[in-house]
Amino acid sequence: MKYLIVIPDGCADEPVAELGGLTPLQAAHLPNMDRVVRLGTTGLSNNVPPSLTPASDVATLSLFGYDPLKVYTGRAPLETAAMGIALGPNDWAIRCNLIHAPEGTMDDFTAGHITSEDGGELMAAIQVALGGRELAGGMLEFHAGVSYRNILVWRGLSGESPFVGLKTQPPHDVPDKPLANHGPSGAARELLLGLMDASREVLKDHPANLRRIAAGKKPATQIWLWGQGKAPTVEPFQQVYGPRGAIISAVDLVRGVGILLGWQRIDVPGATGYLDTDYAAKGRYAIEALKNFDLVCVHVEAPDEASHEGLPHEKVKALERIDAHIVGPLLDELPKYGEWRILVEPDHRTTLATRAHAYGAVPFAAAGMGIAPTGAAAYDEVTAAQSALAFDPGWTLMKWFLGK
Ligand SMILES: [Zn+2]
Repeated sequence: MKYLIVIPDGCADEPVAELGGLTPLQAAHLPNMDRVVRLGTTGLSNNVPPSLTPASDVATLSLFGYDPLKVYTGRAPLETAAMGIALGPNDWAIRCNLIHAPEGTMDDFTAGHITSEDGGELMAAIQVALGGRELAGGMLEFHAGVSYRNILVWRGLSGESPFVGLKTQPPHDVPDKPLANHGPSGAARELLLGLMDASREVLKDHPANLRRIAAGKKPATQIWLWGQGKAPTVEPFQQVYGPRGAIISAVDLVRGVGILLGWQRIDVPGATGYLDTDYAAKGRYAIEALKNFDLVCVHVEAPDEASHEGLPHEKVKALERIDAHIVGPLLDELPKYGEWRILVEPDHRTTLATRAHAYGAVPFAAAGMGIAPTGAAAYDEVTAAQSALAFDPGWTLMKWFLGK
């Protein structure tokens, strides 16, 4: 049996005035996702437990069949896994965004979708100025990741940590809000604020930033620390469910969840984790991966990014591209294997109205061997809500999808 999972990140939404009162899924022309529903079924899945924050880390764990209440330790350790950085039992990983906040408000949590090249230079300067030294019983290491998504590793010298009980704010959930009102709280508050403040001086006149300003791009004005956690322990997917998996994603966080489950990471040239990603290349690589793996997961970040930027038409466009270049070709390819199943499901909701992630169930579409057609004909929030199928908690869907 071949299993394919397509994740249009954050695609689930609410009716939007600019789209004539339709949700982006309703407004988009999605013949292939609709075909999945017609061949099979649709329904709702709730991937975010109320006690956790709605984001791709928690929601992706659920989507992949793991109870986040049992395995989730924080966002940064998952990204650290994707970057190939090992964490010891006393170590903590902390997400380190490069942000653009010249006036003390969260103008852009991506620093203008800074390139990995510019971001890498700035992170190297931060490591020289602030890393390689001890702070509160641990050694600081700053690592450059993809674009604005970087990591601070705190290597604990003993079992004690200042980060227990620390609460931090995801920068993408406070667009245009004052930084001072959304800083960390808990014992390590001053420690994190100290690093964030110090980063402003380091970045201020850095050549990479001056270059960006000259080119009309947003400079990264400081780092924003959040998403801290220790390394989680997770039982491999193959051991729990059977299939041998592979993951295609341009986002470290989502790749990291896959890697943690023991899935093979497949890198696609031209995959950017943004609206301009090479959709067709992702489709081609997924088709190729089906030859060697039982389960292939293709994640596309673009609908989530469009939501964060408050761009309804871009969100629709991203969905149509996923439909045409990924779901379509794969739906043609899968029957060649005889026994197959496909699942289309976002991790969480990201609403254009708030430009932030939201709690609540997301619609899924599933088809393939053993999944009987139910008469539903479209992939959207409303049709899914009318289905008798609902998975809450969402991590129980995987067992159903795999036919276990
Ligand atoms: Zn998001």
